[in-house]
Amino acid sequence: MKFYNLKENDEKVSFAGAVKQGLGRNQGLFFPEEVPHFDNIEQLLAMPFVERSVKVLHPFVGEDLTEQALTQIITDAFNFPAQIQPINESRAILELFHGPTLAFKDFGARFMARCLQTFSANKKITILTATSGDTGAAVAHAFHGIDNIRVVILYPKGKISLLQEKMFTTLGGNIETIAVDGDFDDCQALVKQSFDDQKLKDAIGLNSANSINISRLLAQICYYFEAVAQLYRQQGKTGLENLVFSVPSGNFGNLTAGLFAKAMGLPIKRFIAATNANDTVPRYLQTGEWSPNETVATMSNAMDVSNPNNWPRVEHMLKSGLVDKDCVSSVSIDEEQTQMTMIAIAKLGYITEPHAAVAYKALQYNANSDEFGVFLGTAHPAKFKEVVESTLGQPIALPKELADCATESILSVDKSNEFSELRAYLLADN
Ligand SMILES: *Cc1c(COP(=O)(O)O)cnc(C)c1O
Repeated sequence: MKFYNLKENDEKVSFAGAVKQGLGRNQGLFFPEEVPHFDNIEQLLAMPFVERSVKVLHPFVGEDLTEQALTQIITDAFNFPAQIQPINESRAILELFHGPTLAFKDFGARFMARCLQTFSANKKITILTATSGDTGAAVAHAFHGIDNIRVVILYPKGKISLLQEKMFTTLGGNIETIAVDGDFDDCQALVKQSFDDQKLKDAIGLNSANSINISRLLAQICYYFEAVAQLYRQQGKTGLENLVFSVPSGNFGNLTAGLFAKAMGLPIKRFIAATNANDTVPRYLQTGEWSPNETVATMSNAMDVSNPNNWPRVEHMLKSGLVDKDCVSSVSIDEEQTQMTMIAIAKLGYITEPHAAVAYKALQYNANSDEFGVFLGTAHPAKFKEVVESTLGQPIALPKELADCATESILSVDKSNEFSELRAYLLADN
């Protein structure tokens, strides 16, 4: 299958090309020429996770990866589960945080790292990526030790938690980290500017591991299928006719993957895109006007994004009829509601963190009584230890992954948000 540039439709590349290039001309996002539709959903849902994931992704990547190669990549990448946990009779959480960096981004980053390694052979590649927290950790761990790939990660200095920072700035080796004097949107802008700079791109073999990379999105489709499979297995189909997924959204990659799953025939009725105070999308869906405000810092900081880079893909899916045009609604949840919700969920016997709490609260607002709501648990509560402990008034144990890196030292360098400074750094070190 070919992937085309949503901005300049005549640019078409293979899956390998889209993975290596990241972004197309004029910063256009790649999008599959066709979205496969499965009529044998029941049969797919009956399969084990890895085997089903191969079936789900093969139509997208079949030109560039044999079924055997894809099986190997998925087996290595998805070596941890996605798990449904019921909360009450009409709510369940899909826990996506059982990977090495305790966040859902491990699925996409690990899949991408293995695809890129396969496609790049011995060519030198530089991954440049911006993170508001969890991407950095997932990408750093996914690529750490892959020799021909240099990884440079930008993050907003002082705007992520110390533990989050330690999860990606302490590895060293082929992982370089830069603390930028600015916010996440500044970091994202620097990445975009770098990709616009053809000379720089060629000189260092630039690639991005952000959720603009199609391989990350494709990987994420697989856990939506897994969620529905587990729900059917746990409670049968009765009561699950109207499934609603509430997705804590920042760059809207996770939502995009869910929409792909729906377009492929997975029986999900609709989606709620839950945001924090950075509410560009909920305002847009209400008024039709795209007017990002200044990004504000919140407890759910991985969603502190006011100009979500995957939105053009979502918009394309809604407008082209790949999914029903009103299958996405969006709700913004403020800080106080987020904390109250964490307390409310704790009373139901489940400890959660701010991102999942935002998604749960959006369900409480937006889901009807005949709908079953699944919200995505995008990070382990221990990654947000400070806020979880102060909100719930009880201690949270650190899982081994976090305890191990908490004692290491941060290896980052500081930079301004000037592109020229970053450019010099990237070229000098090459
Ligand atoms: C990245 C992230 C999100 C937002 O996901 P998008 O795909 O960018 O919308 C939500 N929660 C957590 C914990 C994250 O790390």
